[in-house]
Amino acid sequence: LMQLFRPLDMLGFVYRTVRQGLIDMAAMFQLMDSEVEVEDRPGAPALAIRQPTITFDNVVFGYDQDRTILHGLSFHVPVGGHIAIVGPSGAGKSTIARLLFRFYDPWSGRILIDGQDISEVTQASVRAAIGIVPQDSVLFNDTVGYNIAYGRAGATDEDVLAAAQGAAILPFIEKLPQGFDTEVGERGLKLSGGEKQRVAIARTLVKNPPILVLDEATSALDSRTEQDILDTLHRVSENRTSLSIAHRLSTIADADEILVLNEGRMAEKGSHSALLERRGLYADMWNRQQNESGAEAEIAE
Ligand code: ADP
Ligand code: MG
Repeated sequence: LMQLFRPLDMLGFVYRTVRQGLIDMAAMFQLMDSEVEVEDRPGAPALAIRQPTITFDNVVFGYDQDRTILHGLSFHVPVGGHIAIVGPSGAGKSTIARLLFRFYDPWSGRILIDGQDISEVTQASVRAAIGIVPQDSVLFNDTVGYNIAYGRAGATDEDVLAAAQGAAILPFIEKLPQGFDTEVGERGLKLSGGEKQRVAIARTLVKNPPILVLDEATSALDSRTEQDILDTLHRVSENRTSLSIAHRLSTIADADEILVLNEGRMAEKGSHSALLERRGLYADMWNRQQNESGAEAEIAE
């Protein structure tokens, strides 16, 4: 099936993992031109997760000293909770994901996972606990199997197979000329947006993180593909704590709680129905999007 873990391939594999890990993260968070300056404290322990909860406690943060992006943000995601973050473009939604992944430390306030301040534990242990599915997943010029196994060093063929099944992409892979050994990306087969997202979901399943962050994971897809992928993501989120950042509000209407972020502040929060009743920012956004999709449907007719 895959030959990733033959001893002779091992050095190349480690090298690629390190190099492509950097490319992956940079592309994912568009950090190409910024230095990431977060260091572990000497002797910092690893995050120990028993109850995967997320807490933002009065978090203040900006990328540049003279511009604050998050102005004292607080929220809590309980174990197994599904929280959505919505808001206009530039509100600071992805910044929340980057802080949780500890690309930066807050200026003040604290971010806790399972009650532990993530700036006091190792970055590696924080990142191991979180699976991120971004808007456009980056695939490597390598085999499908490599792209899935990449989720966790030491993943076996069985892990990869199970993950492909969980991400509902196994039937597709089985029809490929060389199955898991088929090359994808620029050098090989070009995958559709939906197929790429499924490979990314499979990669996340191999990682098996207790916390899942979806940053507009389906927003680049057409609405039918989006619905298929959302169904898969719902299943995958079931036993995990999740944070979904969404542009299209219809995709997160069933979240336990929706946080409406505006200019780095929590403008509103509540369930979909409570927020509609409030007739505030969320209700405005919802009505606008309903009208837009109505107009699209008319044009399509
Ligand atoms: P959202 O995901 O809600 O659209 P972001 O969290 O990506 O918004 O960005 C919030 C604000 O921070 C935006 O004004 C954006 O321009 C700014 N920003 C994002 N990344 C950086 C960066 N690396 N350096 C400086 N400013 C940034
Ligand atoms: Mg964003």
